[in-house]
Amino acid sequence: MVSATMLSSYLYCPRKLFISSVLKIKEPPKEELVKGKIWHQTYEFINKNDESIVKSIKTSNYQEIYAFFRKNYARFLRNAIIMNKTELKEFNIKLIDIFKDYWENFDSEAKLRALNLSQFILKHNIFGEELWIMLEPKIISEQYFKSEKLNLSGIIDMIEVYKDFHVPVEIKTGKVPNKGIWDNHRVQLAAYMMLLEDSGKKTGEGYMKYKGIEEKRILAMNPMLKEEVIDLIRKVNIIISGFDAPDFVDNKNKCNKCQVKDTCYNEAEMNRLNEEVRRKSTIA
Ligand code: SF4
Repeated sequence: MVSATMLSSYLYCPRKLFISSVLKIKEPPKEELVKGKIWHQTYEFINKNDESIVKSIKTSNYQEIYAFFRKNYARFLRNAIIMNKTELKEFNIKLIDIFKDYWENFDSEAKLRALNLSQFILKHNIFGEELWIMLEPKIISEQYFKSEKLNLSGIIDMIEVYKDFHVPVEIKTGKVPNKGIWDNHRVQLAAYMMLLEDSGKKTGEGYMKYKGIEEKRILAMNPMLKEEVIDLIRKVNIIISGFDAPDFVDNKNKCNKCQVKDTCYNEAEMNRLNEEVRRKSTIA
C-alpha cells in the first residue's frame, strides 16, 4: 500500500523512493531529522495531554490559564529533548540551545490555547468534564488511516476536530516557503483529507504548521487536486511494486545533499541490491 509520505518522497526524487522502499536503504540520521523528531514529539505530548490539562482548569482568567499551559508545554518540550539527548550529543547540539530555539513557538501555542479556552469558559461558564465535552476544537494527534479503495495510508500529525468537521494539520520544521505550501506538503495534506473523507469524516480544508511562522498555510481541497493525488498513488505504486530503478533526478542540487548518493551512483551496488531483493521476493 502507498503511504502519504511516499507521495511526498516521489515528488522529491522517484529514484530515492525506490532506493528506500524497494532496496530498503535507509538514510543515516541527519541533524534536521533529530530536531524534527523533538518538534513532533512535543506536539504529540501537548495533544495527548490536552484533555487532562483542560479538565483541570478552574478559572476563566487568561493569565492564570496561560501560566498553566506554559508550565506544561515547557515540561513537554524538555521531556522530548531529554528523550533525544544521545542523538543531540552526536550532533554536538546543546540541550539548552534546542530549547531556546523551539520555545518561542511552543510559548505562542500555549498563549493561543489559553486564549481559546479562557474565551470559551467566559462564554459558557463550564469546567471539568462538561468543558471538555463542549470544547472546540479538540485535537487528535498521530492518527493512522488506511483506505483499500484509495490504496493509501497515512499517519496524520494532528487533526482539529470540530462538531462536524475535521481539519488535518501537517507539522514541519524545514525551510518555509515565502508563500503558500511546498508542493510535496500540498500533496501530503490533500492525501490526508482524502483519507479522512474515505473514513466518513467531513473535511475540505487542512493547513501546514511551519516552524518559525505563526501563520497557518491553508489548503482547500478541490477535484483537480484529488485527481493529482490519485495519479501520484498510481505512479508510486508502480515504483514500489517493481524492480526498475527510476532515472536520476534532473535537479542535481538534490543529489549533492542526498544521503543515499553513494549507493545511487554506484551501478554495481544498485544491481547487487536489486538482485538480492528479487531473490528474496521469489523465495517469499
Ligand atoms: S542521489 Fe540524486 S538521483 Fe540519487 S536518490 Fe539522491 S536525489 Fe535521487
